Amino acid sequence: MKTYKIALIKGDGIGPEIIDEAVKVLDAVASCCNFDFSYEEALMGGCAYDATGDPLPQETITISLNSDAVLFGAIGGEKWDKLPREKRPESGLLRFRKELGVYANLRPAVVYDELVNASSLKPEIVRGVDLMVVRELIGGIYFGEPKGRDENRGWNTMVYTRPEIERIAHQAFKIAMTRSKRVCSIDKANVLDVSQLWRDVVTEIAQQYPEVELSHMYVDNAAMQLIRDPKQFDVMLTGNIFGDILSDEASMLSGSIGLLPSASVGAKIGVYEPIHGSAPDIAGQGIANPIATISSASMMLRYALGETAAADKIDAAVKRALKEGYRTQDLAKFDAKEVCSTSEMGSIIANYVAKCKH
Ligand code: NAD
Repeated sequence: MKTYKIALIKGDGIGPEIIDEAVKVLDAVASCCNFDFSYEEALMGGCAYDATGDPLPQETITISLNSDAVLFGAIGGEKWDKLPREKRPESGLLRFRKELGVYANLRPAVVYDELVNASSLKPEIVRGVDLMVVRELIGGIYFGEPKGRDENRGWNTMVYTRPEIERIAHQAFKIAMTRSKRVCSIDKANVLDVSQLWRDVVTEIAQQYPEVELSHMYVDNAAMQLIRDPKQFDVMLTGNIFGDILSDEASMLSGSIGLLPSASVGAKIGVYEPIHGSAPDIAGQGIANPIATISSASMMLRYALGETAAADKIDAAVKRALKEGYRTQDLAKFDAKEVCSTSEMGSIIANYVAKCKH
């Protein structure tokens, strides 16, 4: 029987609670799809700093690189906010992404029919939304040099090189080929030279994907269009900072940040994680929504392990749980038949996955 090696990074806050539920669901799908998982836990974030003095111990990188994929919870919390920047949990995460070379962040935003009322937008605007933000993750203004500050000035630099744009563009076009074959590239080419290069290179790469329709949009317009008519989008291709902002905006279409998964992929090992943070305000209460993490585990099966049938089973089980009216606290106001805890939601989904084999 095939055994996949998964590095588990639970992290801080609600991280351990939501990862435990994803593992429950992964074990259920493994037992009905005839493969197995072996898990190895690794520390990152505030808990890693407390244990080792480093938010990203070398051992975590080694364990991750020796695995088939990384399933990641969330890191951070007020306790570590006053540390010098390089010791903070968030610095560990940025370094981790760079070490693993995960240059593409895939963030689907899907509106479940059962939750159209949970969105802050009108049901007719959001019903049927199914888009994917493909965000460049290890370049752009978050990493560009020079950067710094003195007492009166602060500065960062947005830099993209041709190879960085080419590889993320390929990723977006390949994903579009498996979907509705439309890519909208987001930039600020009317103002930024770096965006003009982005637009030119994306247009060149598009010629290798003649079936995919490419359009371009300025980021300010895209922010508006996402709210006005989100269904116009299939794949949205963006740089790092624009994608950071737009994908959080897209997440609200679905009603709760606790629903949205992501995959960060590159040349080596992929990292699969919910888009939300460690939610210190609700940590330890058993009320976090585990669906974003469970759906991230599904993306891991689909994109890292090629276990499409298993991923489909998890997606169907999540839909079924929502259809049957099970809701965690964050969605309790929206057609809930039963409000359940983090762990109950994990068990319900695992149970539907197990039943799915018949
Ligand atoms: P957050 O995403 O942790 O929380 C924002 C709000 O959403 C909170 O009210 C929280 O309770 C709620 N929420 C988040 N996930 C939820 C879930 N699964 N179920 C129900 N409700 C959920 O963002 P924040 O409060 O800005 O940040 C908290 C900490 O997380 C900070 O230290 C931040 O740096 C860190 N952070 C980490 C990551 C990551 O690990 N990838 C991402 C973003 C923020």
